[in-house]
Amino acid sequence: MSETKAPSNFIRQIIDRDLAEGKNGGQVVTRFPPEPNGYLHIGHAKSICLNFGIAESYQGACNLRFDDTNPEKEEDEYIQSIKQDVEWLGFEWAGEVRFASDYFDRLYELAVELIKKGLAYVDLSTPEQIREMRGWAQQPGTPSEYREQSPEQALAQFEKMKNGEFPDGGAVLRAKIDLASPNMNLRDPVLYRVRRATHHQTGDKWVIYPMYDFTHPLSDAIEGVTHSLCTLEFEDHRPFYDWVVENTSVAATPRQYEFARLNLNYTVTSKRKLKQLVDEGHVDGWDDPRMPTISGLRRRGYTPASIRTFCESVGVSRADSVVDMGMLEAAIRDDLNQHAPRAMCVMNPVKVVIENWEEGKEEMLTAPVHPQNEAMGTRQVPMTREVFIDREDFREEANKKFKRLVLGDRVRLRYGYVIRATDVVRDDQGEIAEIRCTYDPNTLGKNPENDDGQGKLRGVIHWVSASKGLPCEVRLYDRLFTVPNPNKVEEEGQTFLSSINPESLRVLKGCRVEPGLRGALAETRYQFEREGYFCVDQESTDERLVFNQTVGLRESWPKDN
Ligand code: ATP
Ligand code: MG
Repeated sequence: MSETKAPSNFIRQIIDRDLAEGKNGGQVVTRFPPEPNGYLHIGHAKSICLNFGIAESYQGACNLRFDDTNPEKEEDEYIQSIKQDVEWLGFEWAGEVRFASDYFDRLYELAVELIKKGLAYVDLSTPEQIREMRGWAQQPGTPSEYREQSPEQALAQFEKMKNGEFPDGGAVLRAKIDLASPNMNLRDPVLYRVRRATHHQTGDKWVIYPMYDFTHPLSDAIEGVTHSLCTLEFEDHRPFYDWVVENTSVAATPRQYEFARLNLNYTVTSKRKLKQLVDEGHVDGWDDPRMPTISGLRRRGYTPASIRTFCESVGVSRADSVVDMGMLEAAIRDDLNQHAPRAMCVMNPVKVVIENWEEGKEEMLTAPVHPQNEAMGTRQVPMTREVFIDREDFREEANKKFKRLVLGDRVRLRYGYVIRATDVVRDDQGEIAEIRCTYDPNTLGKNPENDDGQGKLRGVIHWVSASKGLPCEVRLYDRLFTVPNPNKVEEEGQTFLSSINPESLRVLKGCRVEPGLRGALAETRYQFEREGYFCVDQESTDERLVFNQTVGLRESWPKDN
């Protein structure tokens, strides 16, 4: 039985049963097999958490194997980012990183073995002819003229394929299975094709490349994978997976199990679409904080723990569903609510001058780092004659529902004194340039004494010292798409790009944050009190601090699918 308290699911039940029956010598080996043709996204996180999570709880192993059978679309940048993302999520792969291309020699031998058994042949028909001869659901396939080739002939042709004697697309090696099978994947699928392309791992060694469906089961078998977990679209490929394992002399018998993909609303999780967003400049790179990529979520301020919690709560099943973005946001909100230090940041500053505060006087006020967690200690916040508050926190007139500063009335500056607004000073455009106030020196940590007829304090607002606070830039994010299902737009004849949210990024310059955040390192996360959760962006410098909004304090979106 699994030893951690990860919630069970049908795959864990299968593993429990296999272990109870003594299968695979009591071993559990999984793998995560990304194709290095893009950055990992939140959907991959589900697969990662499942595969590595199972290995962890059964004291098994999980391999990281790049599925690199497609030489032209793959890049080293993707390999590096994928490794980094898996590590960042907190998982450790067994041994070295593996590549399907590590097995190209062995795969070639196994293909030869199939040929010798009369189970594969070289077809020189054109790709169009092959497609046509496959038939369709109600129409059985027809044999190509090459199907009855002898193993000797097939071997000689395959050798020629390998030696570059055919042009690209000029020949394929096909398995000889069943042209009448209702499962199209068994109608003599292609095992090898000719492709002159430099491979990032094997260089120009090969001009033939094995197909994914042939490579995957064999790579699993070679690595001793016991449970090969993949998404539902591979269900129809499973009979071929089993055929390959059965008919080649590999020692292990991996089994494939399928689970439902993770879909999230208000975003896309297709690598092709994510790449298009990057390539066409709709976002600022794969790690743009609006992207559902792991690196984008990281830059946005998500923690590995929040993503793991999210994947756990989504669960693993065979039912396709769309998960609400609000659930992902709730996961990071809960995490940061518990763990993020608090700070004050004024996004839209207006100056407050406290007339009875001595010029040049500075007083250090003590504030908790986290109001519910004393162990996180305290911080010092300097109070000066001039402070900034948010423009939204002041009105010249307002009824009692407005719990902020109103001309003639009082509020408390958080962790500080009670102030009263006495006057406003306007600039040439008539905008409020300054709010004049007085403060009550007897209100630090206690309520005003002479409350005679003045009513209750309206509220508590955040603030930053004008002379001591640090200027900063704050990037506010909204969802990248305006509709729950951006893919649906395609059915209506437009591309997913037409539902991009033009207001998904708003940059606020000239914000002010409390001086204790000087030198904060990239990815440090804070709760900006009354505003939300934010983290230091990688572009942030001592001279110019930059914060990314991670998520608001409360759920602000209606539930909607
Ligand atoms: P491609 O269209 O390029 O094949 P892919 O999303 O299948 O994209 P892979 O790199 O092949 O990407 O995926 C690696 C692993 O992650 C596979 O096992 C795949 O099934 C799994 N995976 C991919 N997307 C999701 C998703 N949305 N939810 C769960 N698992 C996923
Ligand atoms: Mg894939």
